[in-house]
Formats: sequence, C-alpha cells, structure tokens
Amino acid sequence: MTQRTSGQGPEGAVATDIFWWRRDIRPGVTAAFTAVAAGNLAFHVGSDDDAVRRHRASLAAAVGTERVQYMEQVHGAEAVWAEESGDAPVADALLSAGVPVAVMVADCVPILLAGHFDDGRPALGAVHAGRVGLAAGVVPAAVEALRRRGAADLEAWLGPSICGRCYEVPAPLRDEVSALAPGTASATSWGTPALDLPAGVERQLAGLGVAVHKEAVGCTLEEARLFSHRRAPGEGRFAGVVWSHG
Ligand SMILES: [Zn+2]
Repeated sequence: MTQRTSGQGPEGAVATDIFWWRRDIRPGVTAAFTAVAAGNLAFHVGSDDDAVRRHRASLAAAVGTERVQYMEQVHGAEAVWAEESGDAPVADALLSAGVPVAVMVADCVPILLAGHFDDGRPALGAVHAGRVGLAAGVVPAAVEALRRRGAADLEAWLGPSICGRCYEVPAPLRDEVSALAPGTASATSWGTPALDLPAGVERQLAGLGVAVHKEAVGCTLEEARLFSHRRAPGEGRFAGVVWSHG
C-alpha cells in the first residue's frame, strides 16, 4: 500500500468532509467509504449509542436514503440478504438488490461489490474481511451467494485497511493465515513478519473472476482520517456503503 499525505483522500477522489472516498461506480450505483469526520458508526465500540445513531442518520442523509442496512459482524463467513433480514443480522457479508448496505471496519478490509441481475436490478454487497474472516472464506461466500441468485458482471472496490507493511503478526500466525489465504504473507517496513490482508482479498476475488478496483485503498494505521483499531483501540469504526438511486 502506498502511504498517503494526511488530509488528502486517494488520488482523484471527490473530497468531502465525511467521506474518505465516494464515486458513482455504475449508472445508478454509488460506493463510498467514510472518514473519521463521519464519526463512529458502530454500537459496539467508542462513543455512546445516541452518538452512533446521530452519525448513522447523518450518513443516511448524505447517501440520500432513509435507511442504511448494517450487520452485526462476527469475523465469520455468513452472507445474508438485507431484504430478508432484521435490523442487525449476524453476518460478515450483507447482500441486496438495491437496499443500501454497509460494512464497518477499523483495520479489517471492507469490500463493496456491485453487479446486476437479469431484470436490471443492482446486485450489491458489503463484506467484512479481517484476518479471521478472510481465512474463513467470507469473500467467496459473498460472491457465490450473489451469483446463486443470478448476479452478473460483479466488480469489487476495496476500501482502506491496515496495510501489509504495518500489520505485524507472530511468524506462526502469518504462516497459518497465508496457508488458508495465499498471498497474505508479508513483512513490515521494519522487517518483521506481517500479513497483507488486501493482497489476500485481491487474490481471492481474482480467482473468482471478479474485477478488483483499488482506487479507494489506504492504510488505516498510517492515515489519521481513518479509524484504526491498532493505532487507537475502541475509538470507532468507519464504514463502506454501496447503494442504488434514481
Ligand atoms: Zn500501513
């Protein structure tokens, strides 16, 4: 991952206060990743529940929708459909045919998926791929669940996560994870064993025939505009959101 100058989003991004990156990725479909300025969006960490509700309401307003569907993420490989689930389904991949879906992270890899169904509806997905979920196969689980219902032309946008030069782990853990998720073995910039989670995600997506876009990536540990669990545990989570409109 390349290091970014503090205060600037990825090259070519539309700079706004609450978004790290935001773009119309297909006709009628927009994807975005929030910045720290959007506030903490997770109930299980950081600020009080009222603050999280306010932050979520502001994000929904910025998205132009009444409701963004979140999930209760458990580092698993379960994929669920937003249209058929309750308020906070226990899952690590949230899929929809139009409902805005969100994934919350602070070092794990957020992945947004977009394609279409035969009838023209969008096929959307928000995936949470940390070390455990990546090794458990949450990425192929999400892609396969979308395709089982007929989703075609799937593309993926990776969001900011801790990079392969920063995510230091013990050597046995690096070996264990890279055996399950090839491509993840890495070294820190100071020469110790590390994991490159986005590289592992990218390899899995490529193996599934899904085009990968990396224009929104960045390193959460190095970039103060993003939440990082390693840099500041419990401070908050930012979100990746994909939605359809008009
Ligand atoms: Zn880094």
